Amino acid sequence: QADSAMYRAKEQGRNNFQFFAPWMDTQVSNRLEMLINLRRALDQEEFKLYYQPKLSLKDGSVIGAEALIRWQSPEQGMVPPDRFIPFAEETGLILPIGEWVLRTACHQNKRWQQAGLPTIPVAVNLSPRQLNQSLPEFVSDVLRQSGLDASCLELEITENVVMKDAEKSVATLHALKRLGLQISVDDFGTGYSSLSYLRRFPVDALKIDKSFVRDIVRDADSAAIVKAIISLAHILNLRVIAEGVEDEEQHAFLKENACDEVQGYFFGKPMTVEDFTAWLTRQAGTGR
Ligand code: C2E
Ligand code: MG
Ligand code: MG
Ligand code: MG
Repeated sequence: QADSAMYRAKEQGRNNFQFFAPWMDTQVSNRLEMLINLRRALDQEEFKLYYQPKLSLKDGSVIGAEALIRWQSPEQGMVPPDRFIPFAEETGLILPIGEWVLRTACHQNKRWQQAGLPTIPVAVNLSPRQLNQSLPEFVSDVLRQSGLDASCLELEITENVVMKDAEKSVATLHALKRLGLQISVDDFGTGYSSLSYLRRFPVDALKIDKSFVRDIVRDADSAAIVKAIISLAHILNLRVIAEGVEDEEQHAFLKENACDEVQGYFFGKPMTVEDFTAWLTRQAGTGR
């Protein structure tokens, strides 16, 4: 009986279900528990968006913010995305989660503008499953509902996103571009795709993966790869941004090699809405 196979685990709090049934091995019951917990997280608004600044390398001005999801779990505390996004992708839960992220980020950006803060695009990460035919219409609805101009939204996709079903992806990306938003390729250099898609896909920017940035000062190969990506981006008329910049040496290298934008702990960690608002206010005040 399903009823007797499930009971409320009193010691773990009101909303926590545990499953035990002879036909379930621990892996299955762990996954079920995760599924239940993530569904509850959506219903009870346990997800939070943090915002990390993107800066111009030319003058240090803020040119954007990336929204990064966190899960404030009553059982586990703050859970980073790498610990639940892959599972959400597998189970399809990424669809409602992704919709929540997009809606929240757009409304928040509009709020910042209404508060008189600098107008900057907010970047949202997309999972492969989200890039389907209904996405452009959904994005368009969210922009209308939030009152955010499309130019203030950027979507970050990975190389693998577009390799799943290249033909359909191209069509969807074009439909998204027609809305007037920006598209960037995240974690560039780590995927499996060929470079030829860069000609066919309507993207505006490349984000150099942080694994290359981490080693640019010490490792000649990483330095060469970063320089090559910067050149490639510029030849194709794309902006290029380095992620994961943690120190002055990396900053100097990127500036010397004409990278356009930077993002990383050296300039600003991912912050809560409150902290990012204060940070942005200070930046605006310095008049840069
Ligand atoms: P990503 O989009 O490549 O985001 C960059 C990651 O690098 C973030 O990790 C960020 O906190 C981290 N980071 C930023 N600056 C530095 C630095 O200077 N040094 C180091 N070591 N790390 C830095 P985070 O927030 O844990 O996110 C991990 C990944 O989870 C993201 O990688 C993205 O792929 C995914 N993710 C985050 N939020 C969402 C979301 O809303 N939807 C989807 N589908 N995926 C998301
Ligand atoms: Mg990203
Ligand atoms: Mg990245
Ligand atoms: Mg990444």
